[in-house]
Amino acid sequence: MGNIDDDKKTEGQVLSEKLCFELKNCWDAASGEDLDAIESFAVQYKHFLDRGKTEREFVKEAMALLKERDFQDLDVLLRESGKLLPGARVYQNIRGKSLAFAVLGRKPFTEGFNIVGAHVDSPRIDLKTNPLYEDADIALLDTHYYGGIKHYQWLTIPLAMHGTVICKDGSVREICIGEADDDPVFCITDLLPHLAQEQMAKKASEFVNGEGLDILAGSRPYKDPKAKDKVKLRLLSILNAQYGILEEDFAGAEIEFVPAHKARDLGFDRSMIGGYGHDDRCCAFAALQGALSFAEGIPEKTIVCLLTDKEEIGSMGNTGAQSRLFENFAAYLGAKTLDTYSEISLRQALSRSAMLSADVNPAFDPNYDSVYDKKTASYLGKGIVLTKATGSRGKSGGSEANAEFCQRVEAILNSNKVQWQFGDIGKVDKGGGGTIAQYVAKLGVEVFDCGIPVLSMHSPFEVISKIDLYTTYKGYIAFLREA
Ligand code: MN
Ligand code: MN
Repeated sequence: MGNIDDDKKTEGQVLSEKLCFELKNCWDAASGEDLDAIESFAVQYKHFLDRGKTEREFVKEAMALLKERDFQDLDVLLRESGKLLPGARVYQNIRGKSLAFAVLGRKPFTEGFNIVGAHVDSPRIDLKTNPLYEDADIALLDTHYYGGIKHYQWLTIPLAMHGTVICKDGSVREICIGEADDDPVFCITDLLPHLAQEQMAKKASEFVNGEGLDILAGSRPYKDPKAKDKVKLRLLSILNAQYGILEEDFAGAEIEFVPAHKARDLGFDRSMIGGYGHDDRCCAFAALQGALSFAEGIPEKTIVCLLTDKEEIGSMGNTGAQSRLFENFAAYLGAKTLDTYSEISLRQALSRSAMLSADVNPAFDPNYDSVYDKKTASYLGKGIVLTKATGSRGKSGGSEANAEFCQRVEAILNSNKVQWQFGDIGKVDKGGGGTIAQYVAKLGVEVFDCGIPVLSMHSPFEVISKIDLYTTYKGYIAFLREA
């Protein structure tokens, strides 16, 4: 039995509670109903992740949800007369690889939007334009990796092929091999330890170079004593029979090799999810579902969900956030809601808009503690991560939210009991990174980086916590409603 005085808080304890920021574990506050909601959200997410392993697939899955809720194509509406009214649900699909959608609010267009923006591309292995060759009766596919990967992590794991090929005759072939249980898979081979003495002495970055990531694709020759490159020939004949593809069709094709495994519960306690492409599809899914929760009513301010492509290679191109895709979307909305659309009304709307740049953050990893600053790192299970500044080496190349906007977002999360945590990207000068934040901030929009902590980021098997996923979803809803 303890002394009664032990239960009484000391002056110092009371003061500490009042003044100090204390990081709690979200699981401590979660009970009955919450736990059910957290689990069912995780189940939906895993399912979505398995079907959306490329940017095109993610957009396609998202489009299906928009169609179910009667969202209308803004490109079509723009050609028709008539104005959109509050409560209208519209989308713009940008070349099947990026997506913007909105639910129009009561407030006028010039009051701006509340936006959550995420990216739907992930690091992977792309095919070169003329990929198929054979050597020693083995057929290989030559590749060029996409995004920041550690090459060696992609060796000797089962890979699936996902792609879109536009054939010579103009027909479109969607290819997916390696996802069904009885599908064949692919892999990149590695050297046996017995012969790896030289290889093992190399730096990890040189262990296997980018050019060495060729994919094992076949080994059975075409039966014809006079034919050349018989294994390659037989593979081409299979591809032609199944998909109508010619070798030259590879030239413009988008073929991506991704880990063939499915998203799985992780740990004895099933508190985590392991899978490919959490960066950034966990935030994209939370943003998508968060924004869709407004599909039934009329929000105060117009809410926008932005899902972009090409973030992992710098947001370039006409489907990336550096393009004018979001400006175009906003302009279209203005044209369909204002009596007289003007450039100034668009600029006004943009500068009064607020966005959460929804992207993942490197969670503290006890195995690699030396690169993290424990005071500012994010932690698994401790909620949605707020990253005030991105970039590297003196905050270069990133974006920084201003103090007023930080307070506004924190206040919204606090009043909605959404637990948040800090999340700088590692120790100063240990590296860094950027998100789509800077490209939207350039338009005058207030932007704050805000997402989910991830372990093993950019690896074939990234890890998140189920409770962070759910907390982030709740946070995005609160922001979309109240920012
Ligand atoms: Mn990301
Ligand atoms: Mn990334």
